[in-house]
Order: sequence, then structure tokens, then C-alpha cells
Amino acid sequence: MGWLTTLANMDKAELLELIAHHGAHVPGLEAAWRMKDPEQILLRDCVNPSCGDRVEVELRERDGTIELRGIAEGCQLSRAAASLLAEALELAPLAETSAVLETLVRVRQGTVPAETAAVWAEDERFAELADLAVLAVAPLRRRCISMVWDVTTDLMDQASNASAQRR
Ligand SMILES: [Zn+2]
Repeated sequence: MGWLTTLANMDKAELLELIAHHGAHVPGLEAAWRMKDPEQILLRDCVNPSCGDRVEVELRERDGTIELRGIAEGCQLSRAAASLLAEALELAPLAETSAVLETLVRVRQGTVPAETAAVWAEDERFAELADLAVLAVAPLRRRCISMVWDVTTDLMDQASNASAQRR
């Protein structure tokens, strides 16, 4: 109890305000590099057919840290999910973020219990994502949030495999 009904670091009104801000301006997601350095950049394009959301993301890994850029078009939730993700990714190393995000995708998709995300709600680097992972939304809207997270999890796997091979 507690967190799931009140959320950890913010109340629901604050969370909705945060979503509105990130959904409107997508401040966390900078414009794509546009293949300036194709060897180090992983690309992915994805569409959420039930809502019409589309993301085109580029992930760059350098020395174990990652940066996400690109375009998020569609509903407020999908744009906010992309923007908040890009911000969070800059705060922690690839290996750690990858594990957290994988869990949050499952929470958002409903395949693991929401309580699984509680530990990340206490961590200020991931609190906003954890809150978004458990925000009550209609079942069809879950993918608005999870799509960009899911796609980015795949890119992070690729990045960490590539980085392991270079060693
Ligand atoms: Zn959507």
C-alpha cells in the first residue's frame, strides 16, 4: 500500500502536469543525429497501431553510458514516455538502466505485478518512469507508454552486446 495509491515522489496531479509538459514539448528527446556516426548509433522505428503513435529513436552508447534521441509523434502519453525516458537514460549507466527499464516495461504491460516497480520509485533517477509505469490508464493506452520503452530496451541489449564484443 501507499505508493501505488499515492505514488512515491509526487502526487497524481503533479504527475499529470509532468506528463502534460513532456507530452506537449518532449523536452527530453533531442533531435536525431541523422546517422552522423552510423557505426555507433542504433536506430529503430515503431508504430502503435491502436493509437497511431510513432517513434523513431536513435541510441548511442559510449563508455557504458547511453543517449537517446529521435522523434516521438502521437498522443500525449507516448510523447511523455519518450521524453522522460531520454532524460532518465542520461542519469545512469547502461547496464543498470537496461535492467530497470526491462522491469518497468513488464510492469506497464501488466505481465508482472505493479509492486515490482516500487523499488525504482524510491530512486530519483527512475522515479518518474516508475510512476508512469503504474499510472492507471485504459488497457489500450498501455502500449502508448510501453512502446518506446520496449523498443529502447532492445536497442540497449544490442548496444551492450556490441560493447562486449569490442572488449
Ligand atoms: Zn497513444
